[in-house]
Amino acid sequence: MPDCIALLPDHIANQIAAGEVIQRPASAVKELLENAVDAGATEIKLIITDAGKSLIQVIDNGTGMSETDARMSFERHATSKIQTIDDLFQIRTMGFRGEALASIAAVAQVELKTKKADDTTGIFIEVENSVVKKQEVIAAPTGTSIAMKNLFFNVPARRNFLKSNAAEMRHIIDEFTRVSLAFPNIFFSLFSNNQPVFHLEPGNLKQRILQLLGNNYNTKLVSVKEETDYMNIYGFVGKPDTAKKTRGDQYFLVNNRFIKSPYLNHAVTSSFREMIAKDSFPAYVLCIDLDPAHVDINVHPTKQEIKFEDEKIIYAFVQAAVKHSLAQFSVAPALDFDLDAAIQQLPSIQQPFTEKQQATTQSGSIFKGFTEMHQAHFIEPSKKNELKPWKDLYELSELNTEKPIENLSLEFLNNNTDEKIIQLHQQFILVSSSTGFILVQQQLAHERIIYEQLQNSLKGKNIPTQKSLFPITLTVSAADAILLEELSGDLLQFGYCVEPFGKNSFVLQGTPADVEQGNEKQVFDSLLEQFKHFSSELNFSKREKLIRSLAKQQATKTGKQLTETEMQFLVKNLFDCKLPNISPDGAPTYLEFKKDQLEKMFGK
Ligand code: ADP
Ligand code: MG
Repeated sequence: MPDCIALLPDHIANQIAAGEVIQRPASAVKELLENAVDAGATEIKLIITDAGKSLIQVIDNGTGMSETDARMSFERHATSKIQTIDDLFQIRTMGFRGEALASIAAVAQVELKTKKADDTTGIFIEVENSVVKKQEVIAAPTGTSIAMKNLFFNVPARRNFLKSNAAEMRHIIDEFTRVSLAFPNIFFSLFSNNQPVFHLEPGNLKQRILQLLGNNYNTKLVSVKEETDYMNIYGFVGKPDTAKKTRGDQYFLVNNRFIKSPYLNHAVTSSFREMIAKDSFPAYVLCIDLDPAHVDINVHPTKQEIKFEDEKIIYAFVQAAVKHSLAQFSVAPALDFDLDAAIQQLPSIQQPFTEKQQATTQSGSIFKGFTEMHQAHFIEPSKKNELKPWKDLYELSELNTEKPIENLSLEFLNNNTDEKIIQLHQQFILVSSSTGFILVQQQLAHERIIYEQLQNSLKGKNIPTQKSLFPITLTVSAADAILLEELSGDLLQFGYCVEPFGKNSFVLQGTPADVEQGNEKQVFDSLLEQFKHFSSELNFSKREKLIRSLAKQQATKTGKQLTETEMQFLVKNLFDCKLPNISPDGAPTYLEFKKDQLEKMFGK
């Protein structure tokens, strides 16, 4: 038997290793941006073509590299950032593993131009398949430009794995957002297919948040700031009314590095308890700075997960800091925020607070919310080791989800021709019948009805559009603009005619003929929000996500008073559905109460 073990050639070994670091265009974007930051750049430009599939270029005005360093930089484990293993625990730079450029050079065609400030000439190097193709002296500005072309050109299997341009571009914007959020004092810009997407002038963290996440946060951020010997925390949380259905705007930056931490996220979310709906996600950008010796950032190839020496301390600290700032915001809003002139004129602000008013206020639920246990600023006295494992906390909060009810009988419908129909608490519709009665939940029932109507429309003809007399312009964030463009074809099928109109803007030319309109901006914001909420559901097609989002968006909401005709209409349409008993999300749309069971309960 011949021996059968052979060493892999370098370029194949590099390609395999590259899989860990460079999974998609966005991973390369992250590595290149971080290298520019590490090089001390004050201006960093990102240029993208075809969602990074054709070109990803980063130009910085940092230190640049010498000729030897430029050649060395493409070698695996070539780094200027650490020398000994001890250095690993003192890291202040974003990179240190010396893998990124080697990986990129293994899976793309790379062109590097770089010059150090003191050198008169720069150097140009072209690498392909980990092999240097060309090297020459050039004239260049101080700094570095790295262009990587045709990502995965030599690994077709990986290239085929890439998602649509819209999806890959979203990932790129995510990475760009994370890095530029961590360094608000650096100028960043992003061009995609020659169009400017972001132009971020240097500023403070709040300005950077508004540039990236949208100006609507302007009056909606509460500042967080606590300092101790062990760690500092600063940043912002969104006021409770900015909480969203998706995990969207949530950022932890530990020593300027974006990290994912469900554990710390729980610390923040729990501080909002009772201020926001159970299934919503508060917005936050929280920066935690601590001695690098207390964190291990080398537990994940892309460094998005890190290990704290003492996670519980960080948890308690984050929670306390957020609770504290939320409490301050609710107690003294006028200190922190500019009050609208119109609000200043309100009698409640102008007139003295009488004892009678005080008594009324104190018996109200809002007041209680702030003064009883579980209030925002109520920080439980911490005994040693008392912090519950976060998994337990999660499990507790999941206990409440109900299972859908099956096998409901529908006979009552036929017996329900002349019975009265009643709305209770602006959300339940009570319909009696000879066999008992049912309670319909109006919003869930309506979601089911719309869901099936939209599904049917896919089989038949489009839902008719009613042209707007005065088309409305919608401006959305850069990430949402990409999403909306991607969805516009399907939206037309469902009656919404949205056309691109310059940078991040769209014109709404028409809406479904039989859907009540008004406040289109909000309609689209929440539609996109809903869509993103479903994005983690891998089993759903794009259409399915859109239909579910539209059903939620268009459904009559809990809290709306209904006329008798509306109630009759709703109940009738519900039972015309193929699956009347569950909402698209699987919650029951109605509960049935049988007369004989009720009688039994009364001992009859
Ligand atoms: P790491 O960042 O982990 O050190 P990389 O493969 O990303 O590894 O980069 C290798 C080395 O190349 C870096 O340590 C740095 O010295 C040099 N380098 C990379 N990008 C730049 C840049 N934009 N400006 C200056 N030097 C750079
Ligand atoms: Mg690097």
